[in-house]
Amino acid sequence: MVDFELTDEQKLMQKTAHEFAEKEMRPVALEYDKKAEIPWHIVQKAHDIGLDTAFIPEAYGGGGVMSTLTQCVVMEELNWGCAGIATSLIGAGLAYLPIIHMGTDAQKEKFLRRFTGPEAKLGALALTEPDAGSDVAAIATTAMKDGDEWVLNGTKRFITNGGIAELTVAFATVDKSLGWFGLRAFVIEKGTPGMTEGKVEDKMGIRSSHTSEVLFQDCRIPADNMLGGESESAFVGAMKALEASRPVVASGAVGVARAAYEYALDYSRKRKAFGAPIAKKQGIGFLLADMKTKIDAARLLTWRAGWMLDQGMPMNKEASIAKLFAADIAMEVTTDALQIMGGTGYMRDEPVEKWMRDAKVFQIWEGTSQIQRLVISRDEIGEL
Ligand SMILES: Cc1cc2nc3c(=O)[nH]c(=O)nc-3n(C[C@H](O)[C@H](O)[C@H](O)COP(=O)(O)OP(=O)(O)OC[C@H]3O[C@@H](n4cnc5c(N)ncnc54)[C@H](O)[C@@H]3O)c2cc1C
Repeated sequence: MVDFELTDEQKLMQKTAHEFAEKEMRPVALEYDKKAEIPWHIVQKAHDIGLDTAFIPEAYGGGGVMSTLTQCVVMEELNWGCAGIATSLIGAGLAYLPIIHMGTDAQKEKFLRRFTGPEAKLGALALTEPDAGSDVAAIATTAMKDGDEWVLNGTKRFITNGGIAELTVAFATVDKSLGWFGLRAFVIEKGTPGMTEGKVEDKMGIRSSHTSEVLFQDCRIPADNMLGGESESAFVGAMKALEASRPVVASGAVGVARAAYEYALDYSRKRKAFGAPIAKKQGIGFLLADMKTKIDAARLLTWRAGWMLDQGMPMNKEASIAKLFAADIAMEVTTDALQIMGGTGYMRDEPVEKWMRDAKVFQIWEGTSQIQRLVISRDEIGEL
């Protein structure tokens, strides 16, 4: 059975997220992009209506919506509003998703409730290091057991909400010679001595989100703050948690592409050249047709990956296909939208150049487009 109809709950969440994006995010998007600041009042408003905690189980004070497909639907709308603000306000999920996937009941009780109180809190997921980006197995941050504590040392970079997150889930190695299998995940609470913020990045896009280095210098955390236990299977759990976020990230790219497409379509109907709206020129009309087709195809791929995860099916390759395609078309569609708007699109008081800058990050984070191709081609080619 194939069913493309959203449930009533999904439609309601889509509508809520869209209205929030339109009324709250869009009006301040350009201002906060220019200022390169998080609009905290918008993050708090989103929290007040439960947008950031909808995907935390009810048992820990969240909305209890445990569907990846629904997350995809919501993420498209929020990124349609502003990818930078969306990155900030769903930032709690960077920390709480690994905790949901890998945490014990006691860890969930202890940590998830930190996000479901009256005040909006952000989360961070710290994987990337100066010498370990795509090559996650090269992570050099160490975790050494000392009595009933773990001691972390190392440098993380390009961390969303780095230094300002209520909770940071950081990956470190317990034994570098084990590569991938030496990696473990740890929860570090804000204010823990030994964890400090390093360089704050000045970014090309998603500028209303915060990205910085996170430095660990003899940072001591309770042994209970390790996620997934000490066995090698903890690494597998961590990878599953990351796999689960790929369709959701892909949906963000669809949202940015759709924002640019709709704007360019509207402009092409109004803008006249050679005595007629430019939309009447076949060169523009065909471009719009291609943009629309790419967006619809990307959305279907993200929904498929999200749906497969919700069914408990293996979806590593499908998640990569969705992320690769959605990120690449977001870059193409935003570039074409700017082209349709000519010089007007190039100017900073119009949103299309921002959407083009925002789109680029989707080809880089959560696995670059090359890494997604690696995952897909390895699976297709198999053992030789
Ligand atoms: C705005 C922003 C926010 C981010 N937020 C976070 C965060 O919250 N947490 C976090 O941990 N990280 C975060 N990142 C980091 C991001 O995940 C990494 O930048 C990404 O994984 C790529 O790593 P790298 O930058 O070190 O590039 P590298 O891995 O050095 O790659 C450089 C180039 O080489 C290519 N390449 C690498 N290996 C291969 C290969 N085997 N085959 C073909 N090509 C290859 C890459 O595709 C890329 O084009 C963020 C990045 C940005 C830009």
